[in-house]
Amino acid sequence: MEKIQEITKGKAKSLFTTSSDDQLIMHFSDDTSAFDGKKMEALMGKGSVNNQFNAFILEHLQKNGVDTHLIEVLSKTDSLVYKLDMFPIECVIRNRASGSICRRLGTEDGLILNDPLFEFFYKDDDLGDPLINDEHIISFGWATKDQIDEMKLLTYKINTILTELFINSGLILVDFKVEFGVYKGKILLADEFTPDGCRLWDSETLKKMDKDRFRQGLGDVVESYHQVADRLGMNIILD
Ligand code: ADP
Ligand code: UDP
Repeated sequence: MEKIQEITKGKAKSLFTTSSDDQLIMHFSDDTSAFDGKKMEALMGKGSVNNQFNAFILEHLQKNGVDTHLIEVLSKTDSLVYKLDMFPIECVIRNRASGSICRRLGTEDGLILNDPLFEFFYKDDDLGDPLINDEHIISFGWATKDQIDEMKLLTYKINTILTELFINSGLILVDFKVEFGVYKGKILLADEFTPDGCRLWDSETLKKMDKDRFRQGLGDVVESYHQVADRLGMNIILD
């Protein structure tokens, strides 16, 4: 399958049309952004590790009953996916407090939450992806009540499956963001699951091994992503 035309250029990925109307090629670039695009840098090899990381995780989720947009990996940096009607929404689950919730509620970094905490954010860079609730989504027509319920159920299921996967490799899944879309009437997990969109800490030392290394200028960003991949037994092909 060949790329025909770029239809979306996001901050870290691009989508291309293909000869099939309902399939897209998702290209993972080395571009890395934080703080709603205010901090940007190209990190060599990140696109490659993220594409392969994403495929490993989405295939694991698929095997465990979560349907995803992934069709197949095409190259080190590209994957073929179904073209979805995306919800303009981010679904976040937090097992520990970190990032925006600490700024919002004055919580200590790493606080273990009694129960996994679900949050919706509205995808809009200009607005800084604001926190929203179910009522906003229904009132603005971004999704129906049934779709909201399904997205929540799927996100909790992903949390259960991946918390177990990571803990078995000595990693704590602190939090993560996922996005969903609709394909032929069915809700599928879309976009990506990589260390760019989740927080992963070493379970002994609590060392941060995710995009916070970039956000906080801790260095060794791509190296850390590779270490996580190695721990999970992924066979990443290097650039
Ligand atoms: P951002 O939107 O934050 O700049 P990306 O660089 O990750 O982020 O851009 C990828 C874009 O592709 C996102 O807007 C995402 O919602 C969209 N997307 C992801 N998967 C699909 C899919 N299967 N079909 C259509 N759009 C998708
Ligand atoms: N996240 C993401 N994209 C976003 C916002 C958040 O992938 O646009 C991820 C982020 O990496 C973290 C989780 O969602 O794993 C929760 O992010 P948070 O709300 O704490 O925001 P942050 O402080 O990370 O911007």
